Parts: sequence; C-alpha cells; structure tokens
Amino acid sequence: MIKKTMLIGGNWVEAQDKDTLDVYNPATGEVFAQVPKAHQPDVTKAIHAANQAFQGWAAQSPFHRGGYLRKASRLVSERKEEIAKLMTQEQGKPFKEALGEVEKGADILRYYAEEGERVYGRIVPNEEADMESRVTYQPVGVSAAISPWNYPIELLAWKIGGALAAGCTIVAKLPSETPLSPLAFAQCLYDAGLPAGTINAITGSGSEIGPILFDSKIVKKVAFTGSTETGRQVLAGCVDNFKKVSLELGGSLPMVVCKDCNVEEAVKGAVRRSFRNMGQICIAINRIYVDASIYEQFLQMFTEQTQALTIGNGLQEDCNLGPMCTKGGLKTAQKHIADALQKGAKTTCGGKEPQGEKYKKGYYFEPTIIRDANHEMLIMKEETFGPVVGVMPFKDDQQAIQLANDSVYGLAAIVYTENLSRANTISKNIDAGNVAINNVDAGVLFAPYGGWKDSGFGHEHGPEGLYEYLLIKHIRIRYL
Ligand code: NAD
Repeated sequence: MIKKTMLIGGNWVEAQDKDTLDVYNPATGEVFAQVPKAHQPDVTKAIHAANQAFQGWAAQSPFHRGGYLRKASRLVSERKEEIAKLMTQEQGKPFKEALGEVEKGADILRYYAEEGERVYGRIVPNEEADMESRVTYQPVGVSAAISPWNYPIELLAWKIGGALAAGCTIVAKLPSETPLSPLAFAQCLYDAGLPAGTINAITGSGSEIGPILFDSKIVKKVAFTGSTETGRQVLAGCVDNFKKVSLELGGSLPMVVCKDCNVEEAVKGAVRRSFRNMGQICIAINRIYVDASIYEQFLQMFTEQTQALTIGNGLQEDCNLGPMCTKGGLKTAQKHIADALQKGAKTTCGGKEPQGEKYKKGYYFEPTIIRDANHEMLIMKEETFGPVVGVMPFKDDQQAIQLANDSVYGLAAIVYTENLSRANTISKNIDAGNVAINNVDAGVLFAPYGGWKDSGFGHEHGPEGLYEYLLIKHIRIRYL
C-alpha cells in the first residue's frame, strides 16, 4: 500500500486527526494507496502558511521566481516515468498518455517562468504635459486552486504556474480520486527549494475543503476546474468576500463535419477526440453533426476506426484506452446510451463492457457511437464525460450552427472544412470560447483557453492565464 503525506507550510504532514482517504486503481477496482484527509485545522494551517509566505514571494523579482519554476520543471522531466506510473495507476489512462501529461506539466512551469518575466505594464500619456499614467500589475494574494481527476497534473499546473509566476502563493486542493501524481508534482516544486508556504498541497473532500477556502478572508482568488454544477457552488461561496474567481467548467462539444472536408482527417480527429482518455475530457467530442451527403460514409469509416481501438490496463500493455476513472462515470455513459436507444437511435459499435477475464474487475467500457441521434436525447444535451458520442446529419451550414449552439455549454467546438469562407462563418457564429478548424486540439500552451455560457469564465493558458492572478493598479504621476 502506497502512503503519501500532504504539503503544508514546507512540511510533509498527515491530517491532524490522522484521517485518511483511499485511492483506487480503476483498472482493478482495488485500493492501492492512502493519502491524508484534511479537515478544518489542516486547511486553516495551509491558508495561514500561504499568507505568511506571500509578502516575501511577491517581493521577489519575476526572474528570481522564474528560477524556481525552471528548476521544478527540470525535476518534473527527470521524474516523469515514476510520476506517470502513479497517474496511470490512479486515473487509468495508458502510460504513454500519462507520460505526455507529465511532460506537459513540466512545459507549463517553464512557460510561466518565462511569461512572468514579460508582465510589463504600460505608460499612458495624459492631457497635461507634466502628468503621466502608469499602469502596473500586482499579485492578487493567496490563491486557492481546485482541480479534477481527468488531467491530474495538467489542470493543476496551469494554476500553480500562473499563480507562482505572478507572485501569488497557493493552497491547492488536489483531486480526491487522483491525488498521488499531483503530490509527486508538488514534491518537485518543494525540491526546487520554493520557500515554505509558497505552495501548499492538500488532499481531502472538495465539498468540505472548498467552503473553508471560500469563507477565508485571506484567500483572494479561487481558480476552479470542474463540473458546472460544482462551479455554481464555488461562485456562490466566493460572493460574500468578492474573491477573484475563474471557472473552467463542463462542456458538450459539437463537431461539424462539412461536405467539403478531408473526410479521412475528420474521421481520424473524431476517433481521437471522442474516445481519448475514455472521453473524460472537458473538450471531448459529445455531438457530431455531419453533412447529410457524407453521413453514411463518415459513419462507416468512424465505426471501423473506433472498433480498431484497443482497451486494456495502461500500465501493463500498450493500449489506446484504459478503464474509466470512476464507477459513477460508467453509469452515466450507460444511462445516456439507454436513453438514446429508447428514443430511437442505434449504436454502430460499443454500448457494453468488453468481455474477457482481464476486464472483469476494472471500470472498462467499449467506445460507443450512437447514430441518428437528436436533441431530445441526453447524449446531445448533457455532458457524458465518457466514451460515447452521438452523430446526426445536417442539411446546411445554418442548421449546423443552430444545432452546435443548441446547448447551455460553450467551451469549445470543432469544424472540418477545406472551404476558408465556410470555416470563417461557422467559427464566428459558434458560441464557444475555443474553436478548432481541421484539428481537434482547441487548447494550446500559448493561447487563452476558457469557456462561454455555462462553461464558465476566466482563462488559463497563455498570458491571460497569468493575468488571472494579477490586480491592475493605475498610478497617476505629476512631475513637479
Ligand atoms: P467536480 O466538480 O465534481 O469536482 C472538481 C473538483 O472540485 C474536485 O477536486 C472536487 O473534489 C472539488 N469539489 C467538489 N465539490 C466541491 C465544492 N462544493 N466546493 C469546492 N470544491 C468541490 O468535477 P469532476 O466530476 O471531478 O470533473 C469533471 C468535470 O470537470 C466535468 O464537468 C468536466 O467538463 C470538467 N472539466 C472542465 C475543464 C475545463 O477546462 N473547462 C477541464 C477538465 C474538466
């Protein structure tokens, strides 16, 4: 049994009352690790530690802060194999994907080390010759980070990178299902020599720890990634103290496949972005709208390539898909499939748990395509967060746009067309914070990533992800 402690005020500690949280391996359904379960006294200690460290950290030059982040980034790269192994064990994704995520975590720290050095402010001329306006940025203060289990390191790294580079100290509430790889990531920051209290990483229940962070007057900023439902509670919790809040919430991603696209490329993209990480991605494809003239061709190719995906224990074999991370996720996928079938749709593949001895204990499920879906079905309305995608035909661009926008969510969309004007019209008219054209990776390190509508507000990635941790100050100077 692996046992880990959490990081508070520069010390690796158990919960004050020694309470613990079990960690499951979704490939076997068995408990393989334990971490502390923090309660009020532990959280309060972490907040105070971050507060004590704040002035000293904020006073350092961004170049000095960047030095720590660069060193931590190197340590993450050096330890990537051992961290990725923990991630596959707790989250289920294939080892090579876990490895890719850890490498990205290292990249994010390095990127923000550099971006922190480029917060320039500006000087604005005034009407009077002897007056000048100086616009500067200052760190907002102690920041809280709450993130989910689907990308245990990446989603945390965006917050830690932005906050630390900006001069904020941080209390990170790690995902309960997958605390081990984030703790190993935090260890790299600790080993890079960050001053005590600059980063605190605590484990425990979100619904218990969240409100303690929100009620604290010391915490000035909350960065949350998770479901829209929880995001609402986070926002409500932050109202009384007027905290700066950023919310990266759920989505229901539409993919529009136009008749003039490269169908092979579109199919490849659909397979990757519908089923990678078992569809447990905020920007996984949930709904595919295909021009009626290529609907059957697309479905046939999409089904064939989906059936070729291999499923297994990502630590023991080289597979495309691992188990789902939670049993609850499996149930939602099954519910959405049953609902669609009952309302007249059909599956072209999947729809069940894979058969065989090796799949008996884990949370495995076959990637599933639902054809002839419509907007009465849950699959086209709610976020499945599983390996299930609904497909339906459309007749013209206007209808495709209307269907894509028929959702409470507005996180991201994908469009495949080789017609530049069509790409321009559709991307402009889709109500989402990110649109990918002829590719399925709407989020990159260097450009802002954030949702519209019920997918939240605020940004991560890019310089915008750093400015979330800064306050603007206008200093008006008269030269005497
Ligand atoms: P969740 O909202 O249940 O949990 C997210 C985090 O919030 C966890 O760490 C959890 O412990 C914590 N939490 C739970 N209740 C809380 C409360 N009352 N106060 C404060 N924190 C609380 O989400 P989940 O099911 O773990 O994650 C999946 C969701 O996250 C999906 O909806 C997905 O789309 C979304 N997500 C969004 C993005 C994005 O960038 N927009 C990225 C990844 C995941």
